Amino acid sequence: MEIKSKACNHGNYGGTLKNVQYIVVHWTSNQGDTAKNNADYFAREVVKASAHYFVDENEVWNSVPPDRQAWHVGAKRYVHPTCRNSNSIGVEMCLTGKGYVLRRGTIERTVTLVRELMARYGVPIQNVVRHYDVTGKDCPAPFVEQSSLWDDFKAALAAEPEEEMRYKYYDDMPDWAKPTISKLVKQGCLQGEGDGVLNLSEDALKIFVVNDRAGLYG
Ligand SMILES: [Zn+2]
Repeated sequence: MEIKSKACNHGNYGGTLKNVQYIVVHWTSNQGDTAKNNADYFAREVVKASAHYFVDENEVWNSVPPDRQAWHVGAKRYVHPTCRNSNSIGVEMCLTGKGYVLRRGTIERTVTLVRELMARYGVPIQNVVRHYDVTGKDCPAPFVEQSSLWDDFKAALAAEPEEEMRYKYYDDMPDWAKPTISKLVKQGCLQGEGDGVLNLSEDALKIFVVNDRAGLYG
């Protein structure tokens, strides 16, 4: 995905980040903010806090360099035994609109980013956590107060892109498709790739069968 970048002010982040084991999801809890607003703000101001990425429904901005420690989960007391600033990437979701709500597009874009980060650093899904899971802070509040939203987020991270079922030979095809395919082969409409190889997707079979039922093939 496209990621824009504006270097965070040096006063807001720490030393080298060597061993990324966790990805921590936050929200900014700032009404009406955007990813770019935050990148600009953390570049300009010294606030002793930061994150690696800011996400809204339109863009992703990188702030703290990915090889440096952002200050996003520092605390006096931790709930999580091992997740710290020194071994995690911080991702902030922005609120964009009015009210304390996360927009669907922001959540979806965050899923895409986190999936990329999981792949880049080899972070397993159980190590994608909320700020809440690390320190007990109510962040991201919607994912804490309505835990089904967090479950949905994790499910979206885990979802494999569906691989389309393909049928190489007539004999392997489902019974509901065989009469139609047999008819099309006999009519010479379906010629396949030679040696009896038809190699049709399941979607193609469905379309042929619907067309057949509609009388398109006589
Ligand atoms: Zn947070």
